[in-house]
Amino acid sequence: MDYRIGYGSDLHRLSDGKKLTVGGIAIPSALGCVAHSDGDVLLHALTDAILGALGEGDIGELFPDTDPRNAGRDSADFVREAVRRMQTVGFEINNLDTIINAEAPKFSPYKPAIRDSLATLCGCDPSQVNIKAKTAEGVGPIGRGETISAEVTVLLKRV
Ligand code: MG
Repeated sequence: MDYRIGYGSDLHRLSDGKKLTVGGIAIPSALGCVAHSDGDVLLHALTDAILGALGEGDIGELFPDTDPRNAGRDSADFVREAVRRMQTVGFEINNLDTIINAEAPKFSPYKPAIRDSLATLCGCDPSQVNIKAKTAEGVGPIGRGETISAEVTVLLKRV
């Protein structure tokens, strides 16, 4: 197989007084993520997308939230491990597409930084990365600001 596709999604609860980190970028926000690690939904979805493309399970199997070493952990570590596994079996990123689902804040000002951050972590060019952000128009748990979620599709190609 020369190409492999993977999909990942993640969701975290939002709460007052927590930090919001998305795609490795600190986002100014009244609400932040409640999570065992740093709660970066986009990096968690990206990790799962790459692992899925490789047929290597999911982030929870690799980094259980019952392991104290994962408490407050930088989610970039999870992506780096997935990328290391990808490179070990001779694949690289063809492209990846993402969606951040959040009612607030507006993500447009942060998209370039998030794109660069994902490209750096994945060892690819920013032109291979796309960042989309959507609100839920006030409907449901995302619309009420109770959660933030992210979805990532990745296509890997053989080096
Ligand atoms: Mg998560």
